[in-house]
Amino acid sequence: MATSKWESDEEIQYFREYLRIPSVHPDPDYAPCVEFLRQQANLMDLPIKVYYPANEQNPVVVLTWEGLDPELPSILLNSHMDVVPVFPENWTHPPFGADIDEEGRIFARGTQDMKSVGMQHLAAIRALKRSGAKFKRTIHISFVADEEMGGRYGMRPFVPTDDFRALNVGFAMDEGLASPDEHLPLFYAERAVWRVYFNISGTAGHGSLLLPNTAGVKLNYIVGKMMEFRRSQVQRLENNPDLVIGDVTTINLTKIAGGVQSNVVPPSLMVCFDCRLALDVDFEEFEANLHKWCDDVGGGIEITYEQKQPKVPPTAIDDSNPFWLAFKKATDEMHISIKPQIFTGGTDSRYIRAVGIPALGFSPMNNTPVLLHDHDEFIQADIYLRGVQIFQRIISNVANA
Ligand SMILES: [Zn+2]
Repeated sequence: MATSKWESDEEIQYFREYLRIPSVHPDPDYAPCVEFLRQQANLMDLPIKVYYPANEQNPVVVLTWEGLDPELPSILLNSHMDVVPVFPENWTHPPFGADIDEEGRIFARGTQDMKSVGMQHLAAIRALKRSGAKFKRTIHISFVADEEMGGRYGMRPFVPTDDFRALNVGFAMDEGLASPDEHLPLFYAERAVWRVYFNISGTAGHGSLLLPNTAGVKLNYIVGKMMEFRRSQVQRLENNPDLVIGDVTTINLTKIAGGVQSNVVPPSLMVCFDCRLALDVDFEEFEANLHKWCDDVGGGIEITYEQKQPKVPPTAIDDSNPFWLAFKKATDEMHISIKPQIFTGGTDSRYIRAVGIPALGFSPMNNTPVLLHDHDEFIQADIYLRGVQIFQRIISNVANA
């Protein structure tokens, strides 16, 4: 059997076991994940702690390998245990079966996002520990809940706790993305998510008139201004081939609602935009503009936010950050091409960066189509095992930085 060399690999076995736990939204049961991680901690002879920063349904699991100098700020290797829902009818393999095909491709939800990375962290630590290696810094391997829902019950409430502070984290690593080519993306920042609602009121009345200050006129103006801003960002991308989507601000109209009857001018309309503010945006100025546009078109518009993330400074990727230098040295030594960039979506790294801890997003999966949240999510077994080796080198360097 062509697949037997992978099936008999110890790390592939653990990985597949973890993939088979359906910790899937909308109502993930994390108890089997915690149980699995307890077994892993036992096997690896590492202490394990389980915290519940939000509620009993949402654990944070931390395995710890103490360093030679435990007073030094530690290294945190973080992953999330939850995965997004599946539509099994669109899969060619059962989404929680972790089948391996003839080419060594392992199919399951979480093979990319991000049970793979969590198990690679463990596998790398297992290999390093077996080799007799010792490091200056303590290494924590954490597994959190609820990342796919924005970390509401996971990293977000965990970071402000005394338990998190006690981990004394000096540098964190979390998820990145697969790469369809040879280069590996490395994420050092995220844009800020703002979900902006304009609740527009205006003159109501009969559909046969030309009433002043209708909600429709105001809506048109606001949408026009937002789309003008959007066009400027499309233009920036077109004019500069060095820019990627994470470098610019994205604005998308995502919801629109209102109206009572087709011949009645409604008293109110609502329009919502998903905005991802780039690092170069002056947030106060951006918000002031939103209000100015409302005033310009006659007022009567209330702005509310479903989400309004603060500006989080990026993690330095220069000589000022010894962890970056240690990371880069590892990838250079392995002749791995790294492409530093700004993440398009959001990850738990933002909560860590927000309290001033450098964090890098990195999922070592090159030559792999980007299939997170997609049907038939997979990772090839050799790519996975290569990722374990990459992590070994990186962890060795950052834990001694
Ligand atoms: Zn993820």
